[in-house]
Amino acid sequence: MRIILLGVPGAGKGTQAEFISNRLGIPALSTGNMLRAAVKAETPLGLQVKDLLAAGELVSDDIILNIIKERLAEPDCNPGYILDGVPRTVAQAEGLEALEVEVDTCLFFDIPDQAVIDRLSGRRSCPECQAVHHITANPPQTEGICDVCSTALVQRPDDTTDTVGRRLEVFREQTAPLIDFYTAKGILKVVPSEGTVEEVTARVFDVLEA
Ligand code: AMP
Repeated sequence: MRIILLGVPGAGKGTQAEFISNRLGIPALSTGNMLRAAVKAETPLGLQVKDLLAAGELVSDDIILNIIKERLAEPDCNPGYILDGVPRTVAQAEGLEALEVEVDTCLFFDIPDQAVIDRLSGRRSCPECQAVHHITANPPQTEGICDVCSTALVQRPDDTTDTVGRRLEVFREQTAPLIDFYTAKGILKVVPSEGTVEEVTARVFDVLEA
């Protein structure tokens, strides 16, 4: 199974990617997580993209295609993969095709803007392992502490109200054309993404198993 997850920030891609990964035994590849790890480690790539991430702007298609190409070459991707947050532009989708990256299904997480603004304000992320929690919808067992690795949770700098607005605009301008792109290929499946994590997970597997 080779799956793309498409949707605005906060639609639930990262959370559902973990469930799909565990159920199907295929890795979830998040370009956002890879870039944040590079920023944290202050690698040359990290230093190059740090300000773009903080501003909610997209990193160049070339950089993204390079990092995803390298990751897909690792053997754990042989049985399949989940692409979380990539492609984000039609040029990236075409670049993946040129690299002969196969895709069976594109899941579009469909949710109104206001619902994601509410969600992102309560999102708390682990700076160490990148696990995602929410103060009310998916609270950690101990307040403020990551369930997975016990690191103190933080609010991502790009989850603040100002930047969220820009990220929604960037989605509309640069990423939304992918809805038509994958519809035309006959592989787009819509997942209504309001509701609880469990409700959305049930819809994801209904769609994948249909
Ligand atoms: P995410 O964790 O998917 O919300 O991504 C966080 C940030 O990383 C985005 O706002 C972009 O700055 C950058 N980013 C992640 N994936 C991509 C991509 N496929 N293309 C361009 N920029 C990306």
